[in-house]
Amino acid sequence: MKNTNPESASDSKVTSIGHFVNGMNLSVPGDTQDVYNPANGKVLRTVAMGNKETIRMAIDAAEKAFPSWRELPPSKRSRVMFRFKSLLEENSERLARMISEEHGKVLDDAMGEVQRGIENVEYACGSPELLKGQYSKNAGPAIDSWVEFQPLGVVAGITPFNFPAMVPMWMFPIALACGNTFILKPSERDPSAPMLLAELLTEAGLPDGVFNVVNGGKEAVDALLCDSRVEAVSFVGSTPIAEYVYKLGTSNGKRVQALGGAKNHAVVMPDADIDTAANALMGAAFGSAGERCMAISVVVAVGAETADCLVSGLKDRLANIRVGSGCAENVDMGPLVTREHRDKVADYVDRGVQEGAALVVDGRGLEVEGHESGFFLGACLFDHVSSGMDIYRDEIFGPVLCVIRVDNLQDAMELIDGHEYGNGTCIFTRDGEVARYFTDHIKVGMVGVNVALPVPVASHSFGGWKRSLFGDLAAYGPDGVRFYTRRKTITQRWPSSVGRESIRFAFPSND
Ligand code: NAD
Repeated sequence: MKNTNPESASDSKVTSIGHFVNGMNLSVPGDTQDVYNPANGKVLRTVAMGNKETIRMAIDAAEKAFPSWRELPPSKRSRVMFRFKSLLEENSERLARMISEEHGKVLDDAMGEVQRGIENVEYACGSPELLKGQYSKNAGPAIDSWVEFQPLGVVAGITPFNFPAMVPMWMFPIALACGNTFILKPSERDPSAPMLLAELLTEAGLPDGVFNVVNGGKEAVDALLCDSRVEAVSFVGSTPIAEYVYKLGTSNGKRVQALGGAKNHAVVMPDADIDTAANALMGAAFGSAGERCMAISVVVAVGAETADCLVSGLKDRLANIRVGSGCAENVDMGPLVTREHRDKVADYVDRGVQEGAALVVDGRGLEVEGHESGFFLGACLFDHVSSGMDIYRDEIFGPVLCVIRVDNLQDAMELIDGHEYGNGTCIFTRDGEVARYFTDHIKVGMVGVNVALPVPVASHSFGGWKRSLFGDLAAYGPDGVRFYTRRKTITQRWPSSVGRESIRFAFPSND
């Protein structure tokens, strides 16, 4: 499969990205796919599309590396993570530029992504503490009992395009620090940053084969899900694929956590500071061109006056939003990741108009001077959206914000609870009782109070409810440690005069 693009850069300039297996770059003949600069629509490079054989090579390498990596004291594994963290800091701008060039997000947003990734590495540096286990002395006469956290073996991560550095770092730092070996299958749309992460890990002293990257798409994913040597799979991406990965992976006996899509609602109460809410919603809805799983895509305005003030405040702010290449200075919003995705989002805007919503700000005609072939779409704002509309129900994943008007908090909460997704939500209010009721009862995994993007810090865990997460454990933080380890409980007695065994047929207890 090879994408064609009339605006491709001259072939002599197009380089190819392969895979990273057993501590080195691996290039094997096979299918490739084009990687674009979404700001100008040109092909930057191509990426190899790994197959069953590439995955087999990566699993062989990871399987071979596991026994000695597992045996290392956690403190030594942690030292590799410390060096990796320093290298990430030294290379953070380089990483951010790579992300911005292939994804399209603006540079300070890409820097934020890298920083959030680094925070997960910092958490993993604490693995000697995290893996201490639990101990009970004298669980019985002269009997001691303890729980160990043991690594699983070869584990895999499959990641989306929208955070090509951070989401992999939700997974592999903790998995590696816990003693596992790892295969990353990143998004084929922006593969450069994950390859740099692999190089930096090697520079940090990670032994060959402990971390591997296989680029590709469905074929590579299916090969990972069907190989019995892969013990666990972490997935982040859209809900239909998350569900597929969860079902296929678990039916093959693997531990799977699969994080899916979202439609995140922000409730704005009549007592809220509307200016603060409008400012926060601008970043939460249009930052990264809405291509964030925690992006706010629906505002639920309680009361007509709240809605009128908010819509007018957002409209004013949108008149000043600066759209351009993510790598340029003084830009608020970059392009969408691919032409197909831009067209899909624009189709949703058309559909919203047909469905009868009021398009208050229309970004469809936007052209960015000097970037006429870029995958740009201006910010769009819909008012008077209703719950039966496709623009409300579906995850659009673009710079489109819908305003729904309701009469009271109860209606707002019923609306949110009735949606198939339950990733993030937030409420803007000055009333502590309302905020407490909302956080206590809303059926959503991550909740903000006057915080529009309540993305948990690295020492907590990230995960939605309902069809935003398949599996029992969320990503990173304490759930990450539990996901990438298996508990073993050992009960031990050493012969002594106190605990000498006599024959007993009754069930052992401290009777
Ligand atoms: P995607 O589901 O298209 O792709 C995710 C991964 O799955 C990629 O590595 C891709 O190569 C692979 N894949 C794609 N199609 C496949 C198939 N048919 N079979 C097997 N594997 C396949 O998602 P995306 O477009 O890269 O990312 C955007 C989506 O990710 C959005 O829905 C967003 O909400 C979601 N997301 C969720 C979270 C979260 O934490 N819940 C975080 C980031 C992104």
